[in-house]
Amino acid sequence: MFSFIKKIARKLIRKSTYIHHESLNKVSLVILILIDIFVLFNVFSGLNNISQWIFNPSEEIPCFSTIENYYTATNKESFALKAATIENLINHNNFSHFNNQNKLGKVSKLCDNYLRLEKEINTPDNIEIKADIEQIRTEISNLNQEIQTLQSQYDSTLLEKIAGQTPQNSINQTTADQIKSEIDTKTNQISNKKQQILQKQTRLIQVPAADAYLKLLNNTSEYKQIKKAYQSAQFWYPNKQLLLQTLFLLPLIIGAYFWHKNATIKNQGLQALLSWHLLLIFCIPLLIKVFEFIQFGNLIRIAIESIVTLLGGLLFVSNYVLILIIPLLGFGLIKFLQRFVFNQRIQAKKRIEKIRCINCNSQLRLNDRFCHYCGFNQYTNCPNCNQKTYKLTNFCRVCGHQLEQN
Ligand SMILES: [Zn+2]
Ligand SMILES: [Zn+2]
Repeated sequence: MFSFIKKIARKLIRKSTYIHHESLNKVSLVILILIDIFVLFNVFSGLNNISQWIFNPSEEIPCFSTIENYYTATNKESFALKAATIENLINHNNFSHFNNQNKLGKVSKLCDNYLRLEKEINTPDNIEIKADIEQIRTEISNLNQEIQTLQSQYDSTLLEKIAGQTPQNSINQTTADQIKSEIDTKTNQISNKKQQILQKQTRLIQVPAADAYLKLLNNTSEYKQIKKAYQSAQFWYPNKQLLLQTLFLLPLIIGAYFWHKNATIKNQGLQALLSWHLLLIFCIPLLIKVFEFIQFGNLIRIAIESIVTLLGGLLFVSNYVLILIIPLLGFGLIKFLQRFVFNQRIQAKKRIEKIRCINCNSQLRLNDRFCHYCGFNQYTNCPNCNQKTYKLTNFCRVCGHQLEQN
């Protein structure tokens, strides 16, 4: 098994660095590697872009996050929760979910009523109120910071007082009483501002659309439906992404494969080498994605879980399954490479027709047994009639006996 892998690896490296059976010069090799890196980088960036082309669960069901926040809150009847819910709807994401036109997918019908009301809530007036509220909040946090500074000054002044320090020698210029009164003023200002916020929030949630929205939120059966839809969207999202990524890679792989095949038959060494590199580079991300899918994909997990349940909950069975699947896949892949990519017979056919060396493509004279350039023996003896026949062909040229895969 190990020598088999070694053979495959040697073939891979030889195929990737040789042109017409001669090793590539170092400059060409560097250029080739640079091309590889550049293409690989672009393939991965393309994969990333295409996977963002479809709606993610929160784009498909944009009303879910608001509803979920509302239902997971501890006190649904509290004013604070209602106010926060409506406030968060205003200018929410700049309405990004209303203009996702160039993406695949559509917004769930379940959100229709919520989105309609959300639009109605976003009047210029309400947007202004929300901006005011945010402004006041900033002012409050500034005041709080000032109070903290004053508080530490107050503490040190108190300590000085206890230590018997005269006010003239104090490091703080103001007296403790002055600081205390300043703190009180600022605390009053804060509570005034908080009152202002409350008034503005009350105005917000009394808007008819906001009231309707809050009523809609209390519909538990609709919440359950939306949550179910969201979970299903979450389940399918990675699978859809993989499908798109595979669709992105397939034309590239097929194109590179046929280019490579054609170049090999026509004996265009440089093209064959370049297309071979491209083929490898397009297959690498596909292989990674497939392995990722088998190891982490939720469809495979569910399949394995059902097998485990069938076998009475023996968890190690899932490892058995994975241990079995991955080598099987690798085996299939190597078989595929052997059959289609390392197939020397296609190349041999063309060379024999043109009376060229099967190994190095040098021009021969008819019936030359050995290549004058590389010394390769062109013939083998047929096991049936014992006459000499070409190597790497399917049938004996004398008796038509089917030859072993040599
Ligand atoms: Zn030769
Ligand atoms: Zn024969």
